[in-house]
Amino acid sequence: MPSSSSANTKSAKADPGRPCRASDSVQTLAGVGPKLTERLTELGIVSVGDLLLHRPLRYEDRTQLTPVRQLVAGEPALVLVRVINADVRIGRRRSLCVDAEDDSGHLLIRLFHFSPSQQARFTSGAWLRLFGQPRASGFGVEMVHPEIEFVAGREEGQAFEPALVPVYPATAGLTQKRLRGLVDQALDALAKPGFWPDQLPADLAVGWGKQSPADALRLIHAPSAQADCNALIDGQHPAVARLAFEELLAHQLQLRARRQQVRGYAAPRLGDAGRGLAPLFNQLGFAPTDAQRRVIGEILADMAVAHPMLRLLQGDVGSGKTVVAAAAVLTAVENGWQAALMAPTEMLAQQHYETLSAWLEPLGVAVWRVTGKRARSDEVAQTIAAGSAGVAVGTHALFEKGVDFGRLGLCVVDEQHRFGVDQRLALTNQAGATTRPHQLIMTATPIPRTLAMSHYADLDTSTIDTLPPGRTPIATVALPNTRRDEIIERIGRAVADGRQVYWVCTLIEDSDKLEAQAAEASADLLAQALPNARIGLAHGRLANTDKQNVMTNFASGMIDVLVATTVIEVGVDVPNASLMIIENAERLGLAQLHQLRGRVGRGSVASHCVLVYQPPLSETARQRLIALRDTGDGFEIARADLALRGPGEVLGTRQTGAASFRIADLGRDQALAESAARQADDVLAYHPREAEALIERWTAATDDYVAV
Ligand code: ADP
Ligand code: MG
Repeated sequence: MPSSSSANTKSAKADPGRPCRASDSVQTLAGVGPKLTERLTELGIVSVGDLLLHRPLRYEDRTQLTPVRQLVAGEPALVLVRVINADVRIGRRRSLCVDAEDDSGHLLIRLFHFSPSQQARFTSGAWLRLFGQPRASGFGVEMVHPEIEFVAGREEGQAFEPALVPVYPATAGLTQKRLRGLVDQALDALAKPGFWPDQLPADLAVGWGKQSPADALRLIHAPSAQADCNALIDGQHPAVARLAFEELLAHQLQLRARRQQVRGYAAPRLGDAGRGLAPLFNQLGFAPTDAQRRVIGEILADMAVAHPMLRLLQGDVGSGKTVVAAAAVLTAVENGWQAALMAPTEMLAQQHYETLSAWLEPLGVAVWRVTGKRARSDEVAQTIAAGSAGVAVGTHALFEKGVDFGRLGLCVVDEQHRFGVDQRLALTNQAGATTRPHQLIMTATPIPRTLAMSHYADLDTSTIDTLPPGRTPIATVALPNTRRDEIIERIGRAVADGRQVYWVCTLIEDSDKLEAQAAEASADLLAQALPNARIGLAHGRLANTDKQNVMTNFASGMIDVLVATTVIEVGVDVPNASLMIIENAERLGLAQLHQLRGRVGRGSVASHCVLVYQPPLSETARQRLIALRDTGDGFEIARADLALRGPGEVLGTRQTGAASFRIADLGRDQALAESAARQADDVLAYHPREAEALIERWTAATDDYVAV
């Protein structure tokens, strides 16, 4: 036990390159050059601390020797054998075959890759300790490329440190042996005082809080022979919980610290500028619901304060979030400020542009469409840069492609789950501005509480909890694709009744191209089967203007059936569409299916959704379709989704960098997450130094997140 710190300090002095802090680069470890650094980076390992947080996938039991006779095919084991003879045999492949035995039986070792010098070491009588996976072969039991140690004799062969040896997630060109060696060095460093100090405030009196993080890490990488490996692997072990809690707490602290920071900035006071919202409401052709009025009130109250609003607006698909956004935008512009409305796709940006133009231009509000192609020099960009009041609508190109807002007072982000948190932040920071804009983030996918808590801890929340009146529930059925004819017939009837139909082709192996082809094929098929129907096609490979034309024609009723890929998933609003067909529905997640289905049921006619699947269905897929058939409530669906898939997927695989915890798992660690959320404010208030250290420890890799 290296307990004397002076000895450690001395060795650190003698060798100044050795890591002293968890945040030191892996390059400070012996034998790590640029190549290896690159490989480690692929695994998300940049610092020595990252290496320690790289959890084993499983453990190999090397606690005892197994007699050859007791080997079981497929079960890795440690054996001690003596070489009888070794020779190169030319079978189907040339290999070095080593006949060996222990007192119980005979074992063949086969090596396909070997050097002459290796070959020379297998002299008859040499003792070998092997670890490998036995298999049955024509010659008895064999091991192919086991790990081999040459030992001096039986006695030395029987003397070894019994251990559960970790097997890590690895990558091409990085062996387990190499990784283990590096982790061993990191574990040595861990013994140095101050390398990984216990940063949980002492008064967090929770069971796993008492264990030091260093002990927890040691247990995870080098468990004793008695340790509960299954618990270590599936994360139920207190050592894992200890670290998971620390990580979740750090995440909470980071979001809250950022919130405090942003709330500390100045923002324009955007109060009622005189005529209120009546002019807007009179434009709409419908009365806002009580729920819409309530959330508008919450938002305007925030905007009237001289610090940035940070608010999340939740509302199920079709709940009418756009009106709420328009009210906020109008208020900002009437105060003489600019607003930005950011959408996740060009198609949705276009639609928002059209909606806002229709509602706000009659009130004298300038509405600008900003596309990815816009140059700094063009007229709209100059107007925006000059600071004249109005609202700019676009995708993230709004902020990435060089539009400078002269006087940005409000930023609205629609369908936030598509954006990473860093993008959320990039918006708030306009060069040269003395104030920060208010932020309103709108999301249609309701997410369960635990997820919301850890994902949006920096935001206040408003929820639209009722749909506008007069909606008829969407009747949903699931049908196998063998009944396609029936489905097409149904489309024919809907079209004959003057209704409009979506036909959605879902993603095939993550390929835009294949997906587009599938959509084209379906459009052809429908055109043949329904010669009287006007059929349009929209997919990600079309030029934006083409896509927009198709959408405009669909919206104005010039197209009866819109065959589309999932590009229509988000936000498209055509109230006359009342039949939705989703092909290969079994491939999509619940939330996505719910979003898609939400494209219909927006008008007063009864709407239908047909989930077409390719049989046979897996059990999960079947449950997903059942959940969708049985409920239309987004929150209910979100709960089912979390239960079926776990949190990572619920937040969306497309989401950039969000919710990627290293140790914690929001599905598994809900109780820890809630506890971390409860304690975070106190830690921030009473232990600011520890809080800062925890944030740095756990979130250094995602730095720009806080350091705006
Ligand atoms: P989402 O919350 O999914 O963005 P939208 O803002 O697109 O929903 O609204 C869906 C549809 O409902 C739109 O056609 C919109 O004009 C309409 N709508 C919104 N609010 C009301 C309301 N209070 N009464 C009637 N229709 C409404
Ligand atoms: Mg919307």
